[in-house]
Order: sequence, then C-alpha cells, then structure tokens
Amino acid sequence: MQQLDAIVIGAGFGGLYALHHLRDNAGLSVKVFDGAGGVGGTWWFNRYPGARVDAPPTPFYAYTFSQELVDEWEWTETQSSQADVLAYLEFVSDRLDLHKDIQLNTVVTDARYDEANQRWTIETDGGETVSARFLICAMGALFVAHTPDYPGIDDFAGDTHHTGRWPHEPVSFDGKRVGVSGTGSSGVQSIPEIAKEADHVTVFQRTPQYALPARNKPLDPALLAKYREDWPALDQSMRRRGGWPFELNRLKARDFTPEERHARYEEMWALGGMYLLIDSYVGVLVDAELNNEISEFVKGKIRDTVDDAETARKLEPDYHLGTKRLILDNGYFETFNRNNVELVDLRNDPIERFTTTSVITKDAEHPIDMLVLATGFDAVSGSMLRLNPKGRNGVSLKDVWEERFGNYLGLAVEGFPNMFMIHGPTSPGVLFTMPKGGELQVDWIESCMRHLDKEGIGAIEPTAEAEDAWVEEVNTLADRSLYPLAKSWYTGANIPGKPRQFLAHLAGSHYFDRLDEVAQQGFPGFVLEKRRTD
Ligand code: NAP
Repeated sequence: MQQLDAIVIGAGFGGLYALHHLRDNAGLSVKVFDGAGGVGGTWWFNRYPGARVDAPPTPFYAYTFSQELVDEWEWTETQSSQADVLAYLEFVSDRLDLHKDIQLNTVVTDARYDEANQRWTIETDGGETVSARFLICAMGALFVAHTPDYPGIDDFAGDTHHTGRWPHEPVSFDGKRVGVSGTGSSGVQSIPEIAKEADHVTVFQRTPQYALPARNKPLDPALLAKYREDWPALDQSMRRRGGWPFELNRLKARDFTPEERHARYEEMWALGGMYLLIDSYVGVLVDAELNNEISEFVKGKIRDTVDDAETARKLEPDYHLGTKRLILDNGYFETFNRNNVELVDLRNDPIERFTTTSVITKDAEHPIDMLVLATGFDAVSGSMLRLNPKGRNGVSLKDVWEERFGNYLGLAVEGFPNMFMIHGPTSPGVLFTMPKGGELQVDWIESCMRHLDKEGIGAIEPTAEAEDAWVEEVNTLADRSLYPLAKSWYTGANIPGKPRQFLAHLAGSHYFDRLDEVAQQGFPGFVLEKRRTD
C-alpha cells in the first residue's frame, strides 16, 4: 500500500495549493485525487454558458502567494470567464509541476481513520488503497449538485443538464424550447446566453433575485501592470479586508440626506460589481432600514429595465439585498424584454409534474425540448457527507452530522483526527475570496503539521467543548446580521430536510486572525495525542 504524508481530495484551487505548499515548501509526500478528468474543481464542472467569476474583479480571484504567477499570467477581462480560470489553473499546475502528483478520473470511495497507526486509509473506485498521516478534504463548497424531486422529472425525454455538471461537448440550444429551473448565480449567468440561441426559453423562478450589473470589460493592461507592482500590498489588503483588495469607504448613511444617498447608489450601480453592497455605506447587511433603502433602489432598476410591468413585478425580490448570495449579471433583466423569453412564477404557479415533453404547472403546460437545472448544490457540507469519512471507532461523519455540522474553526471535526477541511462548514467560504481563503487555511494546516512534528504528536482533533463554543460563536455572528432572515444555501434552507445552521463565518479577516492566534498559542481547543509509531 502506498504510504504518504498527506492525501488531498480535490484538484481545485484549494487542493492544488495544498499539494504545492505541503510538497514543495514543507517537503511532505502528497498525492491529490480527483474524480474529474482535469484539474480545476468547480471550474472544471461549471462550464455552462455565461459562467464567470462574480467577485472580486480580476486578477484578485487567483492565487496570491507567488509574485511569479501574478506576473506570468495574462488576465484579459475584469470578470474572468470560466474558460480563462480553468486555463489559469492548468497553467499553474504545469508551472508548479503539480500534475505528477495528481491522479485524475479517480473517485475516493472510502476514507477510514486507523487509531492504532494514527493514519488515514483511503480507497478509490480504481481499487487502490492508499495510506497517509493526514487527510485534506478540498472537495469544494459547491460540488454536490441538487436536483429537485419533481414528480416525473426522470421521465422527461429531452436532454437535461445541471449547470454544475455541464457537458464537455458543446450544447446547442438552436431551434430548441429550453426550460431553465433556478435563478441563482448560475441561472442568472446562463439564461441571457441561452436566450440568444434558443427558440424559446421558459424560466421557472421560485425566488426572485437581486442582481447587480457586473459590467465586465477588457482588463486595461496598464492597470494589470500596476496591480502586479503593488501586489504585496494588495495581497495584505485582501487579508485585512475580508478578501477585498481595495480600501472600502466607511461612510455612515445617517450623515447624508436621502438625495445624497440616492446619488451614491447611482454611482455604485454605474461602477458595477459588488460595490453597491460592500461600499455604499457601512452596515448594509446588519441595518434593516439601510438595506431596505438600497433594496428598493435595486427594485427600481429592475422596474426601469423590464418593459412588461407584470413580468417586472414577478422579478422583484422580497428579501434583504445580499442575504442570499449576491449575483452579478450581464444583461439578466434585459433578457426578459426578448419575445422568446417567458417567466413562470412558481410561487403562484408551482410545478406539479413533468411529462416526457413538458413541465406542467398549476395553471399551464409548458412544452420544452431541453431542461437546464440551475438548481444549486447541497452546499458546504454536501461534499464532506458524500465522502462520509469514518473516524474513531468507525463512526461515520453522516452520523456525527445528522443534526448539526459540528466542527472547530471550520477546519476539523471531533472524532476525525488528522482530517482537515478546506472551505468547510463555518469557515468564511464564498464570503471571503475563495482562492485566498483556501491558501490561508492550507498555510494554517501546514503550520499545525509542523507543530505536531516538533512536539512528537501523532494525532490532533478538536475537543467537543471547542466545537460547541465555535458553532455558537459563528451563529451569534450570523444572528447579529440580516443573513439568517433569508432562505439560502448559507443556512441549508435550499435542501429539503437539511439541518438549519448558518454555514459561513461572517467575519473573514477576524476568522484568519483567530486561526493565527490558535496556532501561536499551541493549538488550544485541540487534543494532541503523542505519536505512537516512528
Ligand atoms: P443557488 O444560488 O442555490 O440557486 C439555485 C436556484 O434554484 C434558486 O433560484 C432556487 O430557488 C432554485 N431552486 C432550487 N430548488 C428548487 C426547486 N425545488 N424548485 C424550484 N426552484 C428551485 O445555486 P447556483 O445558482 O448554482 O449558485 C450557487 C452558488 O455558487 C452561488 O451562490 C455562488 O456562490 C456560486 N456561483 C458562483 C458563480 C461565479 O460566477 N463565481 C457562478 C455560479 C455560482 P430559491 O432561491 O427559492 O431556493
């Protein structure tokens, strides 16, 4: 059986950096396994039309640790396309010679902790068994695609494509009547592109969504050169500002008149991207009154954009802006002015069943030739539960997480020694820039491994008390905000039967300060077990 220091599952941003850092900087033997046919993780799978980075602007959704990588990769647009991000990750894998330690087309089917040897053993769908001291789970927060359980959905005879599992061969919408279910980021990005080609598009919308204009454009080479020059400072800035590279305004809404505030919202809207949410005034995600004002501003923009008043009314969201994952769009609302696009409001006219050729809602039958499911993911916890590792005494993660996604620091779970999660439940995840957040988590894991070696420790796992206090802390942070008021994948509300728990840490920079503190203080909250074997 192959013996390694670390097994990494997942060859996306997090897993690739884990391989590089642990192998090339820490000198460990590491192997990455991924079920996909290429590196890229989420960018390998989510190749639906219109897929783009939604925050922050290019080049900040990328690795930050290497000035060489920053200097050598030529980004071309302010909001990079899926194809560009995937090409970038392939470039990084070549440049850092990662491929030789990545095994693709290989699904890890089982992972078990062996207490006597303080090691993990994994099995793959190819029948291999591999052992390592550490198991690093970098399977992605948005990996397990969710398909609604509508009666008859499996009987539909046309092609069905989930945005999160998009085919590698080209998909033609030409001459087709396409039904799209779901209006989150994936639906909002893909619907305008599908509508350009299809005969007819029927959008099945459950919750109307806010979307801010992305205003994607070519990236000015002079600006890219400036970013490269200033990279160390911008990188530090990302660490301090919740993953955002630029200084943000600290303006207080109450210091301005309603007219001044409106003028500012217009300015932020014109700028595009996330600015309206993160840089108009302080406290948009905690102050309901302020949030309502900005939400009304965006609803006004939707009404101004959509010609048909009834359609505009159906598209108006009724939750606080930003409390479901904010969406950046490239012409989403304008798409409803096309005469080949129709909106079905599922709240008033729910789907009853599918036939071989149509979707039947309460009020009508909608004939379709193709179904696009943009219905999201069993987010954050889903990929860990799919792996379902078995920890001490053979206890499975499914059993431990039946009612609550208990863990400490979003990184480790009691009863699962030497197992670490990247972007796990209660870590900042998408609420911090993910490539940077993953790097910082991997850096912490590596510092933890160094500490264990120095102290002769063979196994580390959190205490139950540390987990309880941590989950409580993350919940308290969420409860101070408007986030829990919305039904979103942050809370698990998108998956029927999933335990409700706020799954993201809302203060990314403080989260990473906390990780630093824990490392500096010798890992309080963890049980350290002496090494049993040489
Ligand atoms: P999502 O945000 O969870 O949206 C899923 C959509 O499907 C929602 O409109 C949801 O309605 C709908 N839906 C789910 N179950 C349904 C059902 N049974 N019947 C009818 N409608 C149903 O998923 P996503 O759009 O794939 O995005 C997930 C996350 O991935 C994003 O929030 C973002 O973090 C990330 N993402 C990023 C990018 C990028 O550009 N970087 C692009 C795509 C996705 P409800 O709202 O009512 O639940």
